[in-house]
Amino acid sequence: MLFSLVGVAQVPAAHKTENVVVVMMDGMRWEEIFRGADPELIKTLGPEALGDAKERTTDAQHLYWRDTQAERRQALMPFLWSVVASQGQIFGNRDLGSDSHVINGLNFSYPGYSETLTGIADPRVHSNDNVPNPNATVFEWLNNKPAFSGKVAAFGAWAVFQGIFREKQCGFLVNAGYDPLTAIPATPQIELLNDLKAETPRIWSDEPFDPLPFHTAIEYVKAVKPRVLFLGLGDTDDWAHDGSYAEYLNAAHRDDVYLRQLWDLLQSMPEYQGKTTLIVLPDHGRGLGAEWTSHGEKIPASRETWMAFLGPDTAAKGERKQVGPVTESQIAATVAALLGEDYHAAVPKAGTAVKEVLGK
Ligand SMILES: [Zn+2]
Repeated sequence: MLFSLVGVAQVPAAHKTENVVVVMMDGMRWEEIFRGADPELIKTLGPEALGDAKERTTDAQHLYWRDTQAERRQALMPFLWSVVASQGQIFGNRDLGSDSHVINGLNFSYPGYSETLTGIADPRVHSNDNVPNPNATVFEWLNNKPAFSGKVAAFGAWAVFQGIFREKQCGFLVNAGYDPLTAIPATPQIELLNDLKAETPRIWSDEPFDPLPFHTAIEYVKAVKPRVLFLGLGDTDDWAHDGSYAEYLNAAHRDDVYLRQLWDLLQSMPEYQGKTTLIVLPDHGRGLGAEWTSHGEKIPASRETWMAFLGPDTAAKGERKQVGPVTESQIAATVAALLGEDYHAAVPKAGTAVKEVLGK
C-alpha cells in the first residue's frame, strides 16, 4: 500500500491553474470527434452525400463532409482541433492507441456524470431519476474548502443535474433544466434568457436547447467569476436519440463554437487569463452503425469516451497516441489536482488523477 501511495503523487509540487472549467457534451461519440462526420451516416441525409461538392444536397453535408478524416473533424470541431488539440491534450482516439472510457458498466447519463464528478462508479447510481446523488461531487468537496467556498457553480441543460450535484445540500448554485437564474441580480440579458427558458416550446420535457444554459453560464461568469465551473450541454444526445444525424452534427459544431466563445471570454478576464484549465468530455459514448442513436449496458461500444484538456499546467502533447487508458472516474481527482488539492487522498474510492495532464 505504501509503495502504491508513494508512486501516485496526486498533486504536483507547483501549479499555475487557479480555476477549472468542466464542459460535458452529452453522449458525443469519440468516432465523430476524431474522424469527423461518419461516411455511412451522412450518406443517409441525402442522395449525393459523398459526391462532388456541388452535388451535396443538404446543409449538413456541405458543412461537415470533406474528403479526408482530418478535414472532416476540423470542419466539425474547429476550436477543438485548432486550439485544444495543439495547445493541450486529447485522449480517446482508438485508431492511434489511446483509450478513454467509463467504468460504471451502464453507459448512460446519470451514472456517467456521477462517475466523472464524484470519481466513483457507485452501483447505487443506476437510473436517470432526478434523485440526490449518494456521493458528493468534487465540486461539493471543493466548495467546502474556504479557498473555494462560494466560488463553485454548475449550469446544465438537463434538469437531473439537480440530483447529480445534490442541489439542496451541496451549498453552491446548480442552475439546471428550465430553472430561471435568480441567484444573482437580474440584468437585461438574464431576464431575457429566463423569459426564453420559460416561453420556448419544449421538445424535451427535462431539458431546454443548449443556447439557454450556455448563455446563462456566460452571464454568470461575467458577474460572479467562479473558480470552479461546470457546464453540461445536452443537444448532442437528444438529437441522436431522436435519430437526426444532421442535428447531432449541428449540436456538436455549436458546442465547439461555445467552447471557443467561453475560452476567449476567460482569456479576456484577468481573473482567468493564463490560470484556467478547461476540460471537455462526454458522459458516455454511443453505439456503432445503426445503433449510433442509442447507448447503454447492452451496447458495449457506448462505454468508450474521449477527454480533452487545455490549460497552463498541461503540456502541449496534442492528440495522444499509444498511451495508457484513462477513465471518466479520474476526472474528479484531476480537477482537484489541477487546483492543488488531493481528492484521491480524501476519497480513496475515487479514481486517481490523470498524471499526463498535470505539470509541464
Ligand atoms: Zn448522456
